[in-house]
Amino acid sequence: MQRRAEIPALGSLGPSARAVVRALLLAGPLSRAELARRLERSPASLTKVTRPLLVSGLIREESAPQSDSRGRPGAPLVLDASRHRFLGVKVTADEVYAVRADASGQVEASGHRALGGVGKDAVVAQIIDVVKELGDPSSVQALGVGLAGQMSRFDDTVRANDYLRWDGVPLARLLEQATGIPTVLSGDARALTAGVQWSGPGRGLSDFAVLTVGVGVGLGLVLEDRVIAGPTGRVGMVGHLRVSDSGPLCTYGHRGCASAFLTTDAITRGIGVPLGRPDMDLDTALGLAEDGDEVALRVFADAGRALGVLIAELVNVLGLPAVILAGDGLGMLAQVRPSMDAAVAEHLDPHATAPSVVAFTSGFDEWARGAAVVACQWMLVDPPTRHTDPA
Ligand SMILES: [Zn+2]
Repeated sequence: MQRRAEIPALGSLGPSARAVVRALLLAGPLSRAELARRLERSPASLTKVTRPLLVSGLIREESAPQSDSRGRPGAPLVLDASRHRFLGVKVTADEVYAVRADASGQVEASGHRALGGVGKDAVVAQIIDVVKELGDPSSVQALGVGLAGQMSRFDDTVRANDYLRWDGVPLARLLEQATGIPTVLSGDARALTAGVQWSGPGRGLSDFAVLTVGVGVGLGLVLEDRVIAGPTGRVGMVGHLRVSDSGPLCTYGHRGCASAFLTTDAITRGIGVPLGRPDMDLDTALGLAEDGDEVALRVFADAGRALGVLIAELVNVLGLPAVILAGDGLGMLAQVRPSMDAAVAEHLDPHATAPSVVAFTSGFDEWARGAAVVACQWMLVDPPTRHTDPA
């Protein structure tokens, strides 16, 4: 039976069908009973929603080995994720990373481009170039782009991006016009979190935070199975949270904020300036700490304390059982772990349960994969609209 051509695009489904697809992608395979429970539907109403999806081939019954050949009630439902393709892009200050992934977030192909500069036209041209390399645009349902800045969960405009120095750039429309692919933007920490939840180390966890360190300090939150965006889409601004009454200044002049201790720039300056080595990078700094350099040891111990305070306060406020650490600055984890663990213990509410704190090391491909997951999730919200600034 050849049904491939009839498979509907995720974005064309009605709200109930999208809810089924979303549940199966997030937690499938699921039995009909479990699916009905999750969607708060009666078995009869679930059957009504799933029947056209089964007929079209979008979802199917998984063969359940424990059932007999007529074991229909127990046969779990699955979605054939490989039939839907999404592109994800992560833009850093000097490179563009892109992946093509299926609806489950499984990466099929990837590519990247170096950026010669941060001018809008040049960056957009490089994104278009790498996107086209990843395949025929007509075979792709949507493109997601993750970048730093003040963006809502599903957005069309880049705002307040420090490293590109962009503000008010309608990137989604520019890319859509050039590629013909429906495009959505998202803050990069939140996009990474979406990938972690969909098909990364957060899969199966209902509540957790992803705390990122690197060029900046970022936070993504999943509460009750949802990536949280908040009324302004700007949940997670922990970069300038004050974690100490003393300490260095961040670039905005805050004393003792998280960024003043934790960004790669803060750490390399904190070690390089007193040592008279302005060319300090993170690897060299880590090497110095391993050799017992006192300045390096103190700076990493301070960074660990800052990270520990952040983790403890997140857990105190939100009651999170798990915090996943990520980002390109995570190479310092072994060095900062002792002071981080001590600060978590010191700052945790006496009645709080200690969280599991795990590291998720990845390259920027993983951030691009998260952006592809955002594109898929965007197709599954109802309706798939983007946040747009008032004209
Ligand atoms: Zn600050």
